[in-house]
Amino acid sequence: MREARGVAIAVYQGVDGAYSQLVLEHFMRERGITGNTLGLPSYRELVTTLSSLRADLGVIPIENAIGGTVREAYDLIGEFELAPVAEVLWRTDHRLLGVRGAALRDVREVLAHPLVIAECGKFLGGLEHARAIPCEDTGVAAREVARGGSPEVAALAPPAAAAIYDLVELASHCADHPATYSRFLIVRPKHGLTAEFAAPAGARRPRKTSLIFGVEERTGSLARCLSLLAEAGINGDKLESKPFLGHGAERIFYIDFDGDVGEERVAGALRSLRTHCKTLSVLGSYDAHAGEPAGGSDAPVPASLERIPERRTIEPIVPPFETPFPRVSRPTKPDGTVLRVGNVRIGDGEFVVIAGPCSIESREQILQTAREVASRGAVMLRGGAFKPRTSPYAFQGLGWEGVTLLAEAGRASGLPTVSEVMTIDQVSRMAEHVDVLQIGARNMQNFDLLKAVGRAGRPVLLKRGLSATIDELLAAAEYVLAEGNPNVMLCERGIRTFEPATRNTLDLSAVPVLRERSHLPVLVDPSHGVGVRRWIRPLCRAAKAVGAHGLLVEVHPNPSEAKSDKEQALTFEDFSTIVADLSRIPVPETDLARVHE
Ligand code: PEP
Ligand code: MN
Repeated sequence: MREARGVAIAVYQGVDGAYSQLVLEHFMRERGITGNTLGLPSYRELVTTLSSLRADLGVIPIENAIGGTVREAYDLIGEFELAPVAEVLWRTDHRLLGVRGAALRDVREVLAHPLVIAECGKFLGGLEHARAIPCEDTGVAAREVARGGSPEVAALAPPAAAAIYDLVELASHCADHPATYSRFLIVRPKHGLTAEFAAPAGARRPRKTSLIFGVEERTGSLARCLSLLAEAGINGDKLESKPFLGHGAERIFYIDFDGDVGEERVAGALRSLRTHCKTLSVLGSYDAHAGEPAGGSDAPVPASLERIPERRTIEPIVPPFETPFPRVSRPTKPDGTVLRVGNVRIGDGEFVVIAGPCSIESREQILQTAREVASRGAVMLRGGAFKPRTSPYAFQGLGWEGVTLLAEAGRASGLPTVSEVMTIDQVSRMAEHVDVLQIGARNMQNFDLLKAVGRAGRPVLLKRGLSATIDELLAAAEYVLAEGNPNVMLCERGIRTFEPATRNTLDLSAVPVLRERSHLPVLVDPSHGVGVRRWIRPLCRAAKAVGAHGLLVEVHPNPSEAKSDKEQALTFEDFSTIVADLSRIPVPETDLARVHE
């Protein structure tokens, strides 16, 4: 717990003067919370900072009256398990700000957030010779105008930004509709140890709940879900849908309604809803905004917040459990982690197969492999671009060219991608191109690399080290989670023993042990485990039977020509045989996930 209740490090996306900062500081003033606000470069960084408990509070814009739902925000709240605290409606009062001496008629470029551009369409249309240039947030827009010093460049930003960056107002009330506003959610870490920042008892607000759900593609399935809410007397507040990509005509719905999950009528409705929905994620309940939107022209400038004297260094906080790996251990999340990678769910009861070559060798090789494994049942594409090879003279991988080819093959086949990162300086660029970052066996205890992937905002596939114990694997995963990234899958890939008959000794007994001790999904890589093509098939069956959540296997269009690990590469036909085998093996009935109880 932080030293004093009400003292917070509160984070927002952007720089000083962003609307998010104004909203956050308004909320903190209203609740009497002392603290510092800290701007972060992206929403991903914001959510990882919160889920690693390096900050206590954060704000995320979720809806704009003109631009609509900010779906990324809803998805991130669900993915990183943040708990909503309160909703704030904020009147966005856009002004055109320029440097001293600038005049409206001279403006040629207007910097603004894309949603602000959407909100000020008419005003911008009326500005002769000026074009709108999208940028990250309103604070950045104002800061860039001030830094550039040109009278030809202006920003659409709140009046508070004029005070912060010493800009002057060239036009006021620029939004197309005077009543436009945005909706923000104040969030905190769900599994955190920080204060809940509830409203004072006398000032309790009505509550609201947000959900994301998906339904079967059947006539009436959405109507059935909505009627379950209506029957419980629940008043829907907002409903929006998006296609569930990769799932035919199915759609995902975002819904907000009045009420709290703590109320029996809401809890009951959610129980019934769960049986009708294909997927259901309850983001949580929070204080609804009361009255008119806040903000607008009277919003005080941020300096009025009572600040704590110094910004503390932001270090992960150790939760008070008696285990060396509190975040990965099973009791933290008894129901298990379900990882979402695109539309693939790992750890959700469906056995998944990740396949692809050991190394990406050419465009043709990776595109063909992607196409073939996708059509034969793989749900994700693997491929190494940076290869950890025992000999410096062996093929080292195609490097960034390989990463580009893997990304192209992923797009062409519709498969999310996974590839190994070997060094810290590869992490952020790799995270832009692949969906899952792999930490190879040889790097399992490269602690700085683990911290770096923990901050990268991408799911991590963590392989067991060549001679690592199960506890060491869990401690390595703890490094990633401690940095705020809850999305880790563990992978048993064989360990070194005295036995030379197989490349390694595939330790299938690690699977039930890992599942008992940790809530993280567990994969098995029999390719590196045995290293011999013909022994991979039986071990795939065994991996499913023993309770793994999925497999990682190496497949090559022409194994004898493979530039790395040719002895263990499966042909496309081998791969099909394995997938067919697996369909005959049920997911074990023992609920291993609850075995500790
Ligand atoms: C790989 O998956 O390509 C790989 C190098 O595996 P490991 O780190 O398990 O040896
Ligand atoms: Mn390999």
